[in-house]
Amino acid sequence: MISQTRDIVQKSLDALLEDGSFLPEVKGETRKKAFTSLTSILSTPNHVHKSYLRIPLEDEKVVRIPAFRVQHNNALGPYKGGIRFHETVNEEEVVNLASLMTLKNALHDVPFGGGKGGIILNPREYSEKELHLIARKYVQYFSDVLGPDKDIPAPDMGSGEREMDWMMAEYKSIRPGMPYRGSFTGKSVVNGGSLGRREATGKGVFFTFRYLVHDFVRDQKSLLTKTDNVFAKTALDFEDRALTIAVQGFGNVGSVAALEAHQSTHLQNKVVAVSDRNVTLFNSDGLDIPALVEFTMKNKGDLPTGEEQLKEIGVNAEIRDRDEVLFLDVDVLMLAALEDQVHKDNVEKVKARIIVEGANAPITTEADTYLSDQGVIIIPDILANAGGVIVSYFEWLQGRETQFYTEEEVFNLLYDKMKATLDTVLPLFFGDPFPLRQNCYIHSVMKLSTVLYRQGKLY
Ligand code: GLU
Repeated sequence: MISQTRDIVQKSLDALLEDGSFLPEVKGETRKKAFTSLTSILSTPNHVHKSYLRIPLEDEKVVRIPAFRVQHNNALGPYKGGIRFHETVNEEEVVNLASLMTLKNALHDVPFGGGKGGIILNPREYSEKELHLIARKYVQYFSDVLGPDKDIPAPDMGSGEREMDWMMAEYKSIRPGMPYRGSFTGKSVVNGGSLGRREATGKGVFFTFRYLVHDFVRDQKSLLTKTDNVFAKTALDFEDRALTIAVQGFGNVGSVAALEAHQSTHLQNKVVAVSDRNVTLFNSDGLDIPALVEFTMKNKGDLPTGEEQLKEIGVNAEIRDRDEVLFLDVDVLMLAALEDQVHKDNVEKVKARIIVEGANAPITTEADTYLSDQGVIIIPDILANAGGVIVSYFEWLQGRETQFYTEEEVFNLLYDKMKATLDTVLPLFFGDPFPLRQNCYIHSVMKLSTVLYRQGKLY
């Protein structure tokens, strides 16, 4: 995975090196040297912190749990990114996710750098008391490198408000008298969190998709009909018709994106399939998403897996294999589960013409190239799933000012920010032959390169 991010960053740098209008004052040999410096800075993290958390379990056994905090780049501001609680966490993955955060924040003009944390564990195997201790130990071990102006963690897969509240409280007791509200984001609202933070990623995922296929296509019709760009043809084909949507993953991101799609008045949508770690549920007439969300809230996040359960909540759906969600004959596929879900061995079975990356890196490089060559529009992770970190930024600001916004204000600010990014990258995307991911990377790399150059970091 790590190589995918690196390769696209490198391609972006190669394109910018050739583009004389970018940093025109840097010429000749100096230009070459500056770009070589950029490659090394952007392809490696500034710091990789690793510790083994010593945890006495409730059965009195003591275990050592490996934990990471990776700080990729802070040219644009304090490091920022979630802490993943998952058994598959590994150093390479955390480094890659941290570099995606650098690019994501640069793309959306969020004044933060990129970081990411990870703890190698399956949270379902620990009691609440043990998880509390694990969260606190994480802060104890890494407190020197964390802080509201240094590195600000947030939730990621396997962690949420509860963990952020615990971590902030631990930080506060380790650093008495220091500002603490901005030390962690994604906290509960009573603990200084922001209204709308929980829904922010899912809402942003649907907004990006809706803006592209609806608002942008409608407003820029003349641009799209004039070009022979293959992606413009795909987008035009989506205009003004009923769309079928499948959503992989029904956690914090997938369930909110599905609900947004279900409730949208802008588009004629039908969410025909959703899935989680156990099943795919399918109904060609559209699923009752609110009823499914309500069910998951009462059942530890899991979707119904049997006819009885479906009947009880009055939902009409076929129960299919978990991975079938990927291969259904739908217009749109939203990937909101794990990494590497669409890969070279299954990509040929994917039928959707627009794929939205709610998760980070759900499509491998080979699969990405294959789909893009077929004219499939992939709305990449750093564009589509930035709602979480954008509202984390608002949370951090609100914590500083101790002035809190209404939920409506938060969502309006979120959409304004995402719209500004979309209005910058979409005209370029439909005007050149690159896939959208490449366009987004070029934009982020341009911003980071200019800042690093002006900070005197390239020579
Ligand atoms: N973990 C989320 C992400 O991957 C949110 C990070 C944050 O809010 O800092 O974007």
